Amino acid sequence: MTKSEKAAAIVAALEEQYPEAVCSLNYAEPYRLLIAVRLAAQCTDERVNKTTPILFARYATLSELAKADAEEVAQIVRPCGLGNTKARDIVAMCGELIGRFEGRVPDTMGELLSLTGVGRKTANLILGDVYGKPAVVCDTHCIRITNLMGLASSKNPDAVERSLREVLPMDKANDFCHRLVLHGRAVCRARSPACRECRAVSLCDYGRKRDAGVTPK
Ligand code: SF4
Repeated sequence: MTKSEKAAAIVAALEEQYPEAVCSLNYAEPYRLLIAVRLAAQCTDERVNKTTPILFARYATLSELAKADAEEVAQIVRPCGLGNTKARDIVAMCGELIGRFEGRVPDTMGELLSLTGVGRKTANLILGDVYGKPAVVCDTHCIRITNLMGLASSKNPDAVERSLREVLPMDKANDFCHRLVLHGRAVCRARSPACRECRAVSLCDYGRKRDAGVTPK
């Protein structure tokens, strides 16, 4: 089996295990997803989903947020951690969306990366979820699990993204990344993966070693 065939089989196994592939951040408009992802750095999606309704109740539009006092925004987003930095980034980014993109969230990697506080993970999420473009969102679940599976061999998100782009069926890559998040929470947990509950066990390097009685490194 080639690595691409293995990747396609793993994608299919997780499709079976998690029929619904959804982003776990709640959002009603593209710019709000950008903000939610910025808040999600070093924070749980659950916490972000509790914070964003408060933020958007106080600042109902993009232009209100672009003109907001960053210190006031920080008070609202503080529960997500790094409140001052995230608030500054959010206000700056909203200003850039209005000033450079006529209030629209751009749909190219280069333009997204030009926004304050936006890295490849965020840009990929926007491209995949908002615009339906091929995307590989390399978060901690994706990096950890694809290393266990043998689809990647690096902890560096850019390197993992490159490896996955070489082997994944790109029309399914974005949903696959969402499924990895579900898998990382429900079955392939960081402390003790429940390999017996995993539909991809026969395809996963770590799972196969466990099945064979070898203690995986
Ligand atoms: S077999 Fe085990 S280690 Fe591999 S993806 Fe499944 S749960 Fe994770």
